[in-house]
Amino acid sequence: MIKYNALLLLAAVALLFSCKHQTQATTTAPITPEDIKSHIAVLANDSLMGRKPFTAGETKTINYISAEFRKLGLIPGNNGSYFQDVPMVEIKGTPSETMGVTGGKSPIVLHSGTDFVAFSRQELDQVELKNSPLVFVGYGVVAPEYHWNDYAGLNVKGKTVVVLVNDPGFKSGYSKLFKGDTMTYYGRWTYKYEEAARQGAAGVIIVHQTEPASYPWSVVSSSNTGARLYMQQSNKHMDRCKVEGWMAEDAAKKLLAAAGITGDFRALARKKDFKAIPLNLNVSLNIHNQLKYSTSHNVIGMMQGSTRPNEYIIYTAHWDHFGIGKPDAKGDSIYNGAVDNADGSASLISMAKAFTEAKEKPKRSIIFLAVTAEEQGLLGSEYYAANPIYPLNKTVADLNMDALGDYGETKDLSITGKGQNELDDYIERYAKEGGLKVVGDTKPGAGGYYRSDHFNFAKVGVPALDMNNGIISASHEAGWAKKQQEDYTAHHYHQPSDNYSPDMDGTGMAQVANLLYRLGYQLSNETTFPGWKKGSEFKTIREKSMGK
Ligand SMILES: [Zn+2]
Repeated sequence: MIKYNALLLLAAVALLFSCKHQTQATTTAPITPEDIKSHIAVLANDSLMGRKPFTAGETKTINYISAEFRKLGLIPGNNGSYFQDVPMVEIKGTPSETMGVTGGKSPIVLHSGTDFVAFSRQELDQVELKNSPLVFVGYGVVAPEYHWNDYAGLNVKGKTVVVLVNDPGFKSGYSKLFKGDTMTYYGRWTYKYEEAARQGAAGVIIVHQTEPASYPWSVVSSSNTGARLYMQQSNKHMDRCKVEGWMAEDAAKKLLAAAGITGDFRALARKKDFKAIPLNLNVSLNIHNQLKYSTSHNVIGMMQGSTRPNEYIIYTAHWDHFGIGKPDAKGDSIYNGAVDNADGSASLISMAKAFTEAKEKPKRSIIFLAVTAEEQGLLGSEYYAANPIYPLNKTVADLNMDALGDYGETKDLSITGKGQNELDDYIERYAKEGGLKVVGDTKPGAGGYYRSDHFNFAKVGVPALDMNNGIISASHEAGWAKKQQEDYTAHHYHQPSDNYSPDMDGTGMAQVANLLYRLGYQLSNETTFPGWKKGSEFKTIREKSMGK
């Protein structure tokens, strides 16, 4: 009895002293590097053939993850199943050799590959633009929170819009214009296509410039030729523009000059009173599509919350990589993706283990979601966000793990797109306690926040966080971790040499995973719904979905 009373007293004292701390997990670092590494060893093994969707490697990968979920006692997350079908369509588009532009003093002929790339996601064998009038719409942005509308008073039905990459803030010298040099979602190419489709345009062509795009034309031309994967949609993507594409800067200069627009067109489009300019030119182009339909799978397990089971915290990590492809200099052709993203998927399993072993069960439900086809355009997470198994307005947060670093613990932590939402504040608090520094992206202009699976949750309003180790090693000299990071990007990222080795340093991965564990655990025990910060492009979407 005494013991019981003492416990009660202790509990009361704990409650009195700290409302914040009562919700912390009993152990704050239950995830071990060894456990993570044991799963990487399996997931990045040659026998999984690089974990490519639709291959025998997919079957092995999703069977392994679901078997681990079952072993841990997770409930199948999709109405009795550990799998969510993700129907996809592969479209191999071949544009006509040339794009013809008429209506100016003399016709302009642009060449496929060197001057432009074009494709269509409309599931049709053939699409065509025939004398479609061209309109320069500047950045092609409709952003109510920035009082910006490049399409104001414009009807672009049947027309083809020419838009600039990035947003008006980039290199404007004004940090308050959008987010200055930090790219907002309005700057991403995916947004440009979505907005042009909402406006009803027949075609949309993005003007490529290396600086605002953050990659050269070679990346645009190599990643946009050949087959592309999309989510299957009941409307067969007929709500999208017939033609989507990019144009090289020199070609765009030629085109705009023919309509009398010369000089710095970014400066022109950035002006507060900028109005879309009809070019009085017409474009013609056709694309032949080859279609192939297949189904891949997300893997989903859940742990039911003890008191608020109908509210959810989601952890995500993509299980896929590139399969078998071009061999490297050593003759290795299997893209094992040990870091990208066997370590994230491995950490997801270790995360689930930590939750199942927690002394006190989480009050809200925890979802463990391993998504497919991230490397093909974030498709598995896009599918989940469009077909959520758990209501989005009951989903508190998405915590994502993608390519955690293999260079040990760091004294700093990098939050992708830092400043977007209130989840950052929790990490800041933990970091402060542990004497760690929290930093943002190393290249904010590159739009990292829009480039992994958490983004698809953000897009539908769910606060999402993606985090990684920083560049100050806890155990090596200054500059070492940064060098490791750069070496990975230059020599192993998306290469066959991204391999598992028993010498891998899993401590950095565990450091990040443990912080995300602590965050998820704390959120699961709160009643709050952290929101988006002022200025975030996702704030209104969330408020609408929450019925505010
Ligand atoms: Zn990748």
